[in-house]
Amino acid sequence: MQLINLMLLLFFILAPTTISQTLLQVTQNDGLNEPPKPPNMMYCESWRLAVETNNAGEWHKIPHRCTDLVKDYVNGQQYITDSKVVARHAQAYAKTIVVAKDGKDVWIFDVDETLISNIQHYAIDGYRSKVDNESAFEKWALSAKAPALPWSLWLYKKLQGLGFHLVLLTGRKETHRNSTEQNLISAGYHSWKKLILRNSTETGKTAQEYKASKRAELVGKGYRIHGNSGDQWSDLLGWPEAKRSFKIPNPMYHIP
Ligand SMILES: [Mg+2]
Repeated sequence: MQLINLMLLLFFILAPTTISQTLLQVTQNDGLNEPPKPPNMMYCESWRLAVETNNAGEWHKIPHRCTDLVKDYVNGQQYITDSKVVARHAQAYAKTIVVAKDGKDVWIFDVDETLISNIQHYAIDGYRSKVDNESAFEKWALSAKAPALPWSLWLYKKLQGLGFHLVLLTGRKETHRNSTEQNLISAGYHSWKKLILRNSTETGKTAQEYKASKRAELVGKGYRIHGNSGDQWSDLLGWPEAKRSFKIPNPMYHIP
């Protein structure tokens, strides 16, 4: 009987220590023993973050070792999910605005890699990891085959439902108006207030200068620019800015 009592006493002394050690090991295995990502992948994800946050500033092409990451990203679910989160934040903000009946409450959208996607074209030549081929892009743009970015189309329709007037502001040339309109309509966009393209006197300006000057014209005409959605920082920066700007991901190219 004394032996049984002694064994029970030892059990109650030792068991909690053993259980807590096991729990500690499980916890450690959950966190610290995860296999590290390959260094290339770690670097390329950091590079993509630097591009999206504009910490990278001006850059000319995708680092060679990151081409596969960019390819996987723009063809994968993460790109769609990132774009969805941006669109949801934009909608949440838009819903806070009381839209007047004077037709002056506007939201600006860029076109390429914002409303429509040229991934099909860029896939041919390594997602712009090599030199940009402007004449090949012009040919693609004239074909008017670019599909909608689904979450931009979703936001576009939500904003129309809230009563905003939509202004499309693109760096495409005025000579591409017909094909651009045709492409936008076939992708599902309609009833925009203005489609502003770059005319021949504006070709010397950077995208940021050109787009800011067009926003200034809108403000001069009494429009209130509540939101601006674009895949380039040059779509969004420069005076006057929209009250809120929404950066859509694009790790393929940079336009100053
Ligand atoms: Mg764009």
